Amino acid sequence: MAIDRRRVLFGGGSVAAALAAGAVAAPQTEAAPAPHLPTKWDRTADVVVVGSGASGFPASIAARESGSSVILVEAQPHTGGHGTCSGGNVPLGGGTSFQKKYGIVDSPDLVFRDLTDWSVVEPNGFPDYRYNDREVIRAFADHSPIVFEWLIAHGVVFVDQKPDTLGGGSVGNSVPRENHAAVMDWPMVQTGGQADPSVRKTMSSGNGLIRPLEAAAAKASVQVLVEHKMTGLYREHPDSGRIIGIAVDNDGKKVNIRAKKAVILATGGSSTNVNFRRMFDPRVTEEYCGIAGQPWSNQDASGELAAMAVGASLWGAYNQTGEFGSGLTKPGQIGTQYGYVNLKWMPGSKVFDKARASGLTVRDWQNVALVNMLGQRFYDETARQFTSNNYGNVDPYTYGSYLNAKNIKYDPNNWINAAMQGIGDGVNGGGPIWAIFDADAAAREKWDPKPPNLDFAGGFAFQADTLADLAKKIVMKYQRLPMPPQALEETVARYNGFVDSGKDEDFGKPKPLYKIAKAPFFAAWSTPVIHDTRVGLRINGKGQVIDMNGTVIAGLYSCGETAGGFSQHGLARATCQGYIAGMSAAGEKLGA
Ligand SMILES: Cc1cc2nc3c(=O)[nH]c(=O)nc-3n(C[C@H](O)[C@H](O)[C@H](O)COP(=O)(O)OP(=O)(O)OC[C@H]3O[C@@H](n4cnc5c(N)ncnc54)[C@H](O)[C@@H]3O)c2cc1C
Repeated sequence: MAIDRRRVLFGGGSVAAALAAGAVAAPQTEAAPAPHLPTKWDRTADVVVVGSGASGFPASIAARESGSSVILVEAQPHTGGHGTCSGGNVPLGGGTSFQKKYGIVDSPDLVFRDLTDWSVVEPNGFPDYRYNDREVIRAFADHSPIVFEWLIAHGVVFVDQKPDTLGGGSVGNSVPRENHAAVMDWPMVQTGGQADPSVRKTMSSGNGLIRPLEAAAAKASVQVLVEHKMTGLYREHPDSGRIIGIAVDNDGKKVNIRAKKAVILATGGSSTNVNFRRMFDPRVTEEYCGIAGQPWSNQDASGELAAMAVGASLWGAYNQTGEFGSGLTKPGQIGTQYGYVNLKWMPGSKVFDKARASGLTVRDWQNVALVNMLGQRFYDETARQFTSNNYGNVDPYTYGSYLNAKNIKYDPNNWINAAMQGIGDGVNGGGPIWAIFDADAAAREKWDPKPPNLDFAGGFAFQADTLADLAKKIVMKYQRLPMPPQALEETVARYNGFVDSGKDEDFGKPKPLYKIAKAPFFAAWSTPVIHDTRVGLRINGKGQVIDMNGTVIAGLYSCGETAGGFSQHGLARATCQGYIAGMSAAGEKLGA
């Protein structure tokens, strides 16, 4: 009888029973830990979840409620990840109670069909769903309505309204599926305070999704360890066998945590890891340093790298390179490192000392001229990035018909690519983009152009009484060449000429309205922001991680933005895949 090494080591199943009965002898060499494994474990649980965000909490709760003991480790001093920074717009469909209540007919089959329709393209020609992994999408489609009800059962209050199309992307063309987690009384990460009582039941917020899940995890006795950063995975043998635990850094101290059933990687993606993200787009160099959701948490690829070190494969890499919706965005706030459009850090926030400034929210891009590192304009300031697909975006829509693509009207709304084109000196990356404005613009926008709104100390905002002095002052880490003062003066003079003539002859800004003429003058950081991770570890329908040979890595799961094969923004895939991974991991046999 051949001995299954995995089962012998962990005493599971029939081979273990046979061993106990003396039917077969365990090889002597397997008693001692291999040299790469710890000699002692500091902690042990059945299931170890890494990351306490939108996928990690559902994974932990699902595993715990299925009878497994669970340790959840979180790198940051606080929980929630991007999930809690998010807008709380959750596109779970497939026939949810809300869809039924409001007369929307949906089914798992329709979700699957929508999210695998090759023929749907964006106005830029990029296909949303063509490269989605069918097994991953099938699992998502089948669990979508279940997870929606499961979230409600675990305390999430969704705004009681008809599902709509707001706040998500790549969620299918056939029916509306967006639900909105009400913020309720939970404090918000952005401000540190509660929302105004008048909007607590109607305002969508990631806090309304994550905080009830955190409470449910506590109630279920999930052991949450903050400031515990996973640094590596332990596998029985360097390139084979089960995953049996993780190495963790806890404030400089190494902690080894044994996972008797499985480790679930819910680490949130790779967008803040410059070298990792450049595998998919070489342009996104260091200056793209204000990732959405930072500085609350990072997407440093630690989950992906740890899994790849034990043989895991990445999957669906096109989905990261394709330019979908908010994957790469124009900032909404200028003059701060962290200017993501829907996230404004306020002085009461726990992470405001790291964010340093709130930024100035731009209401009307007519009020600024955007220039590159050399002080040159590059595009229409009022333009935006591409969109992504939602219910009704393709109209008329026929499933799988090439006419869907044929009927799409190309939209060259391409600010991001223009901003990332660089200055033509052969260096990757577009360099900093600066919003140039004057005192009159600040008055029109009702901006108060000083700290804590602008980050002068961090080098993300500058002020001077002349344009030439402003250009000279722009010295910071990512400004690798000085801005020639004369270039900025000439750019602004030409721009002001377009205001006089009513026509932007260079980039077609619709009727430039305001001259930049009244001191003081400002330069505010306005560099594109990276948002989503859509590439990640190869998983199967159960969330098990697959290696480079197409084989399951026993005892290793992944979910959310760290998992690949699924082009969709955010919370639905994270919560759903977290639930699936937690349930599956709990179903594993116990190791020794
Ligand atoms: C501003 C903003 C708005 C958004 N709005 C929406 C929206 O309205 N709708 C939508 O669908 N999506 C939205 N999203 C996206 C959505 O929040 C994410 O897709 C989702 O949170 C991903 O879940 P996750 O579990 O993969 O990662 P996260 O929620 O980010 O959780 C990952 C966690 O893992 C931790 N971690 C990472 N590495 C380690 C490690 N080595 N050891 C221990 N812990 C680690 C992180 O600190 C983090 O807490 C938004 C995102 C942002 C930033």
